Amino acid sequence: MITFTCKKPAALGRPSGRCDMDQIIQTIYGDARAMAGQLSAWRRDLHRRPEPSYEEFETAAYIEAALGALGIPSRRVGKTGVIAELRFSRPGRTVAMRADMDALRLTEAVRREYGSQVPGAMHACGHDGHVACLLGAASLLSRRRDELAGQVRFLFQPAEEMGGGANELMAAGALEGVSRIFGLHCAPDLSTGTVGLTPGLNNASVDQFTIRVKGRSSHVSAPQMGVDALYIASHIVVALQSLVTRMTSPVQPLLIGVGTFRAGTTYNALAESAVLEGTNRAVSVAGRQWAKEKVDETARTVAALYGGSAEVAWQDFGAPLINDPGATAEATRVADALLGPGHVVSDRALSMSGDNFADYLLHVPGVYAYLGTGCDQNPCTRESIHSTSFDLDESALPIGAALGASCAASWLMADSL
Ligand SMILES: [Zn+2]
Ligand SMILES: [Zn+2]
Repeated sequence: MITFTCKKPAALGRPSGRCDMDQIIQTIYGDARAMAGQLSAWRRDLHRRPEPSYEEFETAAYIEAALGALGIPSRRVGKTGVIAELRFSRPGRTVAMRADMDALRLTEAVRREYGSQVPGAMHACGHDGHVACLLGAASLLSRRRDELAGQVRFLFQPAEEMGGGANELMAAGALEGVSRIFGLHCAPDLSTGTVGLTPGLNNASVDQFTIRVKGRSSHVSAPQMGVDALYIASHIVVALQSLVTRMTSPVQPLLIGVGTFRAGTTYNALAESAVLEGTNRAVSVAGRQWAKEKVDETARTVAALYGGSAEVAWQDFGAPLINDPGATAEATRVADALLGPGHVVSDRALSMSGDNFADYLLHVPGVYAYLGTGCDQNPCTRESIHSTSFDLDESALPIGAALGASCAASWLMADSL
């Protein structure tokens, strides 16, 4: 059992100078359930006004106003990032908590009272719920200024859907002095009341590549006079799959997907250029690096073989998401105290989609929790994220807020980490 020193043990019904974490967690959870209406209101306000990556202007202002009402100072990072810090009455360690805040360019398919009012934009990945949970955690912790020690830094990150935001926040000092970090994502595959806390690998890395093949046009009847960029690009598409099927261990999966192929302007000429766009997903830092180098080499080598050339441009979205085993065990201990035994899923299947919360985990031990938001009474909560019918079960929001706040409290006050 994690123990820590209580400044106000009497208020918690303990006569000694020690109190156990379970009691604190239950107090936090009770407070979180009592603020369920506020959590839904925050989530719904944000759901009505979804903003895509790097356009979260209203969202950032809304978050700043909510933090201001809680008496928590914040600062703007870049155009739409927000970092806030809650300091407790005594010095101590620093922990960080992160919520992503961007929406998707999708049109909500289901009419709802709290539905999107922005044409072509929708919170279909539940980031509105993530922000509500983080504001909730901030509120829950701010009531304990005299009981806890150290500080909690709240990271409201833009542009997760584009693989953005995390590096900007880190460059602005988001992780300075941080000893643990917590993040969560809603999970329609898990029922409300459960939480996924899987140690180690949770999500693949995500990178995007653009391959530009250069050839030389000629009449289709005289191919020896030209270099067919379309033909070269076709070989590259096929050769890339050999990296997956013939050069990668089947138990260390690698995914390379080519999603677009543009080449040629007319039926009777060799294509002068071709452009391929695709994505790599890997399950280790080394595997990610290997795949990127091999895609570069394959494109260049295949193009050279047929007399052309190729360039590869990369956009890095995020590392493989690997939960620190120690931090995950600590969060599991907290979740058991919060929800009772049997509510933690510790072996959720690997997802080949990514989240650049992983980039924080490259620098600081921490945990990324999957918050169960699936409810059979509302079929939309079982829809996949990024579905235009997606919804989340708001009764999970107090759990998300309490889990984050309780993890932060336990990390701040643990006698040792
Ligand atoms: Zn998403
Ligand atoms: Zn998401």
